[in-house]
Amino acid sequence: VLRLPKVEVATPTSVDEALGLLAELGERALVVAGGTDLVPNLKHGLFEAEVLVSLGAVEGLAGIREEEGALVLGATTTLATLAEDERVRRRAPALAQAASLVAGPQLRAMGTLGGNVLLDTRCQWYNQTYFWRKALGFCLKKDGTLCHVVEGGRRCVAAASNDTAPALMTLGATLVIAGPRGRRTVPIDSFWLADGIRNRALEPGELLVEVRVPRQAEGHRGAYGKLRERGSIDFPLFGCAVRLDLDGAGRVADADLCSVALAARPVRVRGVAAELAGVQPGEAAFDEAVERVAGLAERQCRPLENVPGEVEWRQAMVPVYARRTLQAAARGAGPVHHV
Ligand SMILES: Cc1cc2nc3c(=O)[nH]c(=O)nc-3n(C[C@H](O)[C@H](O)[C@H](O)COP(=O)(O)OP(=O)(O)OC[C@H]3O[C@@H](n4cnc5c(N)ncnc54)[C@H](O)[C@@H]3O)c2cc1C
Ligand code: SF4
Repeated sequence: VLRLPKVEVATPTSVDEALGLLAELGERALVVAGGTDLVPNLKHGLFEAEVLVSLGAVEGLAGIREEEGALVLGATTTLATLAEDERVRRRAPALAQAASLVAGPQLRAMGTLGGNVLLDTRCQWYNQTYFWRKALGFCLKKDGTLCHVVEGGRRCVAAASNDTAPALMTLGATLVIAGPRGRRTVPIDSFWLADGIRNRALEPGELLVEVRVPRQAEGHRGAYGKLRERGSIDFPLFGCAVRLDLDGAGRVADADLCSVALAARPVRVRGVAAELAGVQPGEAAFDEAVERVAGLAERQCRPLENVPGEVEWRQAMVPVYARRTLQAAARGAGPVHHV
């Protein structure tokens, strides 16, 4: 049994109080929301803290509301709530589907949207016990100087593994972040850093307060596909979210496809909208365009030995998942997973 190191828990009731505690405690504190990633990381000696600043009792951080056509999702809204909410399922289906496939029911009941966006990157040589990592000689991301994925590599390529991230990218979401100097709003695309050691531009002492999903096009369709070995619990071995915006005549006016579990940050496949523009789901031209997009994904997505699953198998599954997820979005169906 892995023991949780001794740690105190502070329970602020407002964002200002939480920010005050973070400013006062500095590097001695970490933020905890649902704790479903943070607690295992503390047990594995990957994270260290004297105090956990819990967001559980902070007023106004949980819940979903509509504001001028946007969906405003509080950072501590649970993944289970997100997956089941009728407004999210209807207006941002890729996000609801991605949330519905995270981990298992207990973890979705505790795990939050904010914690998912801010999930630490993952690697099969890193997400291990201290004893296991020590036997290996540690690695760049924690306690060591070598990368076991890229020989001679000087940069960590641990994988962004948060299922909701690519969905939020296709939806053009923005993040509202509160910090010592007030609030700032960041488009999610500019939030990621291509660095597996820390892949998100959140400054020390800052809190993610809410995620805003703008009003989508009238003919919006979306879906999420997730490659995994088991029907539950598994992190993505490859994940892809798609957006199809249909015009009044039912033709594709715009489209997007973003992936996760490849590199340090979620990655957008380039050229998707150009291939799909003007074609209509149900027609042969649409299926041909989908095949071309699957080809783009295959060429642009390069799985590494950072997360489990044979690299060749994951690579072969990239076009399969891109194709199936686009077709599911076109039918208003999804999520896509084989188990
Ligand atoms: C067995 C298992 C399977 C899992 N499978 C998946 C999976 O398939 N897909 C997936 O995406 N995830 C998976 N997870 C990870 C995790 O359950 C989810 O990502 C969850 O959404 C994390 O949310 P949380 O609230 O528990 O985050 P926490 O663990 O509380 O926090 C995660 C990180 O975010 C920071 N943080 C949280 N909220 C805020 C905030 N509002 N402001 C600033 N910092 C914040 C914390 O300091 C910490 O660094 C799995 C976890 C386990 C244990
Ligand atoms: S990619 Fe993996 S092995 Fe390499 S430095 Fe990052 S966590 Fe360590």
